[in-house]
Amino acid sequence: MRKPIIAGNWKMNKTISEGVDFVKQIKHLGDNTDVEVVVCVPFVSLESIKKELKGSNVKLGSQNIHWEENGAYTGEISPLMLKEIGIDYAIIGHSERRQYFAETDETVNKKVKTSLDHGINPIVCVGETLEERENNTAKEKVKVQITKALEGISEKEMSDIVLAYEPIWAIGTGKTASSEDANEMIAFIRDIVKEKYDEEISETVRIQYGGSVKPQNVTEIMNQPDIDGALVGGASLKKDDFTELVRF
Ligand code: PGA
Repeated sequence: MRKPIIAGNWKMNKTISEGVDFVKQIKHLGDNTDVEVVVCVPFVSLESIKKELKGSNVKLGSQNIHWEENGAYTGEISPLMLKEIGIDYAIIGHSERRQYFAETDETVNKKVKTSLDHGINPIVCVGETLEERENNTAKEKVKVQITKALEGISEKEMSDIVLAYEPIWAIGTGKTASSEDANEMIAFIRDIVKEKYDEEISETVRIQYGGSVKPQNVTEIMNQPDIDGALVGGASLKKDDFTELVRF
């Protein structure tokens, strides 16, 4: 019932020409499949890649968005600029942005709202540190992140949101949460959504797992009942790996 969604997060990789070249090779991957395929690319590449994706079923996303439409925010990118390019998704609150660029649950919430207001579907990231997992406070942390990110979001808007559980200790480290642990946290997130909205919304919201997803582990992860997709960094940069991922 929930359409699987595999999204590549290129992070700060690939120049514009490298990105366009890559997309030429993978733009057919959204055809004849029930899987939604997304590439989230650096801001500077969005426009060229959007052109390259014309007629393709692969969707396009940014890796961030600002909450204001314009103003004195040096170095930032407005939702109006992204909307004009015609992107489908924006990753919001990735742990690297929270860690290195001081994003907070409050700014994440503002970005989710702005994104929805401009017809851009948010992929909202949450996840605990290794320390929090070891201290048994992972669920508490994730609950706060989810609750704050969704503050003021209507039932109707929930159908445009994708959630992504990415344990920080599993990102780029080669360590994955076991698929059962990942599923347990994702089922827990579904429960939070159910508590805040209702059963129907909790059963329809799509929740991805992210953190060292590779061709070798994607099938097991995707076979978990509550996991609807993957948000993939490293393995989304190589054509063969990304192809295997979307064909999990
Ligand atoms: P990774 O990154 O697949 O390289 O671990 C995932 C992410 O940060 O979205």
